Amino acid sequence: MKITRFAPSPTGRLHLGHAYSAIIAHSAARQKNGRFLLRFEDIDHTRVRPEFYDGIIEDLTWLGLTWDEEPWRQSDRLDHYQEALEKLKDIGVVYPCYCTRKEIKSELSHLTRAPHGPEGPLYPGTCRKREATPSDPEPAWRLDSKIASSLTGPLTFQTQRGTKTNVKADLLGDVILARKDIGTSYHLAVVVDDAAQDITLVTRGEDLLPSTHIHRILQSLLEFPEPNYHHHRLVCDDSGERLAKRSDSLAIATLRKQGLTTLEIGEMIQSMFKK
Ligand code: GLU
Ligand code: ZN
Repeated sequence: MKITRFAPSPTGRLHLGHAYSAIIAHSAARQKNGRFLLRFEDIDHTRVRPEFYDGIIEDLTWLGLTWDEEPWRQSDRLDHYQEALEKLKDIGVVYPCYCTRKEIKSELSHLTRAPHGPEGPLYPGTCRKREATPSDPEPAWRLDSKIASSLTGPLTFQTQRGTKTNVKADLLGDVILARKDIGTSYHLAVVVDDAAQDITLVTRGEDLLPSTHIHRILQSLLEFPEPNYHHHRLVCDDSGERLAKRSDSLAIATLRKQGLTTLEIGEMIQSMFKK
């Protein structure tokens, strides 16, 4: 049975891009008597606003989507992420990082060949050899991508049709798995929850393709099952940029107030795919 999910952050109302993502996940589940789940990615308490939980539910309901369980909130599940982090510490694939953003920037500016990923410079590995000491302030924890890939060996992720992509362990470098202020990260939380909710098909925008490489590594290290992946096309604005949370004029709630029907929303989405 197919189990899919939509995992919005309650940091704003849904726009056309979110709606498309939700519809893709929902219809994949509904086509085959599967299950569709809703999960709020609300670990970043600095950005979450309480009114958006209900706002998002209102948007999804208006779009005609239904879900099969009470929505999960990641903020209720911090213990589980902590447990996963402890396991990664035990295996020896994470290290504490005390760098500030400013220090990382300055370190990178001194390197003649700074490591680069799809979205710019990567963490240069300054703290890789550091041990945590009790007197130090609370660190962030980073994945040691080299050690991780030596432990997992070659990995792939695949679509439902069986098309495989080779995992590049160093694609995003030594990413943060636990921020010092919230004790976890998107990467860690999403992997723990996809496993806990038995998600069999992860659908999300192709902007998150690089993250999937990290997620497969974490699944392997934490001995979680491997879901299939579908990275869908992005909905873009006139200038060809992916819609941002700020695209209030393209928020579902706004369009609905202007009198658009769900059918018209669907047509709008179709006309806005990334070229
Ligand atoms: N919360 C993420 C987003 O809004 C989705 C994460 C995921 O589906 O893995 O882009
Ligand atoms: Zn560091």
